[in-house]
Amino acid sequence: MTDKKFCTKCGAELPINAQFCSSCGQVVAGTDAEAKFRQNEAEFEEIMKINSSTWVSFMIGIYAIFAIIGALAGLLQAGTLASTIFNSPEFQQYIKSLGWVVTQQDVLNYITWFGYMMLASGILAAISAVLVKKRIKWMIAVACCLLAAVLCVWSILGFILGLLVTWCVISLRECFIDEPDLVDEN
Ligand SMILES: [Zn+2]
Repeated sequence: MTDKKFCTKCGAELPINAQFCSSCGQVVAGTDAEAKFRQNEAEFEEIMKINSSTWVSFMIGIYAIFAIIGALAGLLQAGTLASTIFNSPEFQQYIKSLGWVVTQQDVLNYITWFGYMMLASGILAAISAVLVKKRIKWMIAVACCLLAAVLCVWSILGFILGLLVTWCVISLRECFIDEPDLVDEN
């Protein structure tokens, strides 16, 4: 065993018991200081993963709450809403200009169908938000987020935002704590 050590970064000669390079501050490999440094690095990485997943989960959760409340409000008021829209002069003029034959029941059906789509989108987003927050079942979290976006296809902006958020969930893969198990199963 030699009694001389050299810094791996700057090459300075170091005392045999050195934990840090006195010249450049580099932590010396194989020392307690290095072990502590690696541990801090791992802890920092874990905190970053928790922060990213919390932030993405929060975004999806906000959407889920608005979609579910909006859908339920719309469905509960569907009859009134359909009547208001159908009897408005603007609507009557609009369908006349298009040459369409639309009944009040058609309007009600459309609102109901639209409401259930929003409700489904919100519920899927809520499931995705919980999975992302817990950092489990990455594939299901991605699938729910993507389906929630697809159900938003009637609004181009909503659809594009949904796809962007889905991409965020996809990129969080390594943040998921059960992901190694998922890989083993495949
Ligand atoms: Zn050095």
